[in-house]
Amino acid sequence: MKPGAKQALLDQVIEHIEQLDLRSHVIVGTECTVVAALGEKRDGAKQALETLEGVEKVVPILAPYKMASTEVKKEPTCVTVLGLSVGAGRLGIIAGPCSVESRDQILEIAHVVKDAGAAGLRGGAFKPRTSPYSFQGMKEKGLELLAEARKATGLAVVTEVMAKEHVELVAAYADVLQVGARNMQNYPLLEAVGESGLPVLLKRGPSATMDEFLLAAEHILKTGNSNVMLCERGIRTFEDHTRFTLPLATVPYLHQKTHLPVVVDPSHGTGKASLVAPMARAAVAAGADGLIVEIHPNPDKALSDGYQALTPAAFRQMMAECRKVAAAVGLEM
Ligand code: PEP
Ligand code: MN
Repeated sequence: MKPGAKQALLDQVIEHIEQLDLRSHVIVGTECTVVAALGEKRDGAKQALETLEGVEKVVPILAPYKMASTEVKKEPTCVTVLGLSVGAGRLGIIAGPCSVESRDQILEIAHVVKDAGAAGLRGGAFKPRTSPYSFQGMKEKGLELLAEARKATGLAVVTEVMAKEHVELVAAYADVLQVGARNMQNYPLLEAVGESGLPVLLKRGPSATMDEFLLAAEHILKTGNSNVMLCERGIRTFEDHTRFTLPLATVPYLHQKTHLPVVVDPSHGTGKASLVAPMARAAVAAGADGLIVEIHPNPDKALSDGYQALTPAAFRQMMAECRKVAAAVGLEM
């Protein structure tokens, strides 16, 4: 829209878009208001819209994803929930165990997270395990314990939802819904987490391309939920010195293509506790908007992913190091 175009003109444009059988989505920016027209390409639509009063120009969005694209919204998106802010210059840290295992474990670790200056508490209650014989999570009891840990600390709870049928239950306890790597292309789940209205942490599938990743985010955005964080958690390559390969070029690449914040998971990305802090520092140096890190009071005894968990002391050390890197690259941590 032209700068200063009145609401009545905006409404006219929206009405016209809808008459063309397209969906409209209004993005109010600092410099101008953009109306995205979403749907299949329509002959003559560009000309029809271009002649409406108040319209500055009509630009076809070239990227296959639309609402996620910087072509539609240039200003970076910041996702904020409780004390956790991720994006637009704010570096949000989420830490906690791979799985919620007991009341003592999650409360103890929540205080470690809080005292170290992080704002998000992670912990899986519904766990996607490669083997059906591994610990599958505490389910609803785990969610109750996460909510208790939030009450005690004020941390924002980030936890995975594995199935569309569980969204209502998990959303009743969580502050951020995590969609796991294995579910990145589970479209009914993406739609359901979008409709929950809660912020979503979408993890990259280990074999997904950037376009597939951004189109998965687009499924969530299309529901009208704009609080989506993208999470690079490592991809499958021929390398076997690490559990996955953590490609950090993802961070600046995504910053060019999308306004959505980018979180890095150096825990699953490496699978080795000794590599987590160096890759966390590197992620911050690359401009990551957030980190999600696995920590455990006693990694040797963890019921899942203990080999990649930091001890509380190692986590505090990592936080101190990341704070220096954040300051050096102009991020507020
Ligand atoms: C996790 O965060 O514990 C997890 C299972 O991650 P991912 O989906 O990236 O494997
Ligand atoms: Mn894990």
